[in-house]
Amino acid sequence: SREIQLKRRPVGKPVAEDFTCASRDVPPPAEGEVQVRNLWMAVDPAMRGRMDDAKSYVPPFALDAAMEGPAIGEVIASHDPDFAPGDLVFSRLGWREAFNAPASALQKRDKHALPSQAWLCFAGMPGLTAYAGLLRIAQLKAGDVVFVSAASGAVGSIACQIARNMGCPVIGSAGGPDKVAFLREVLKVDAAIDYKAEPSLTKALAREVKAIGASGIDVYFENVGGDHLQAALSLANNFARFAVCGMISQYNVTDAPSVPRNLTMIMTKRIRMEGYIALDHMDLEAEMVEQMTAWSAAGQMASAETIYEGIDKALDAFWGLFSGANIGRTMVKLS
Ligand code: NDP
Repeated sequence: SREIQLKRRPVGKPVAEDFTCASRDVPPPAEGEVQVRNLWMAVDPAMRGRMDDAKSYVPPFALDAAMEGPAIGEVIASHDPDFAPGDLVFSRLGWREAFNAPASALQKRDKHALPSQAWLCFAGMPGLTAYAGLLRIAQLKAGDVVFVSAASGAVGSIACQIARNMGCPVIGSAGGPDKVAFLREVLKVDAAIDYKAEPSLTKALAREVKAIGASGIDVYFENVGGDHLQAALSLANNFARFAVCGMISQYNVTDAPSVPRNLTMIMTKRIRMEGYIALDHMDLEAEMVEQMTAWSAAGQMASAETIYEGIDKALDAFWGLFSGANIGRTMVKLS
């Protein structure tokens, strides 16, 4: 079985030399262990943070060991009474083709309700991240004007669809004409901005707010930071709610991060801006899965995916998050 290990801690943008693809034997599982062959793994931007030796909400990746991340696999052999060969399981043991683990590291998933990779997308952490951010943090209600940045990505594409399904006008921002076409045609947002083609994001957002007949935005689903946050502050209505999910434009910067020049608007407009981590909202998971499954069955939750084939393409998949090569959830098909 092959796995991707972290060899040294990247400085700024990671390079190929920071990693290695190693082979190791996976022996038959011991008593209490389950053997799993991974079918899919997903990559996400937060993995960049875990490559640094810095204190955060999850510990750093160890050096010379396989990295971790969400994966869906099939049980091959089991020495635990709760798991049987053929079961579909979720684990955080991605970045490897196969593994043995105690049953406590695995969660069973329904094989029939959804395609297996959906458990890494709208029915998995990206779904929970979008759901918790909009419903709990931003307290979304029908009619709110919603602005979503990195709107074509894993979390953003789901946030756009949740807001749309709840009767909210949605403005999405993404980089490039293909992504903008995807926002309009697949996610069916009301307005889409190609931020790479706009000299001023604030002017572009003002134009689109006007085009949909609104006075400003009520909810900002923040994935990017920097200019996007500045534009959202400028166009916010009084008492707007900003759910701060991520700030990807800042993750690889080595010099001073870019801070919006209009932060005082948080006070003058009485904006409530709140950061959150999806893992703190696991109590919403069952409700989220039920809602997503219903929307999916009704054709109201498109599963947007960019798929790479084979563990040797896993790093390409990861780089793609930062170069903007992906649409929807970025996943690697492992077998
Ligand atoms: P995505 O699938 O959205 O991939 C990242 C996207 O970010 C890229 O497709 C790219 O799209 C965009 N991007 C990259 N660099 C920049 C930049 N400099 N400026 C603007 N856009 C950029 O990843 P995820 O959906 O997994 O994550 C989205 C955000 O959510 C991230 O900030 C992530 O850290 C955060 N997150 C937070 C969680 C939480 O619990 N709080 C949980 C999961 C994710 P484009 O081509 O449009 O630029």
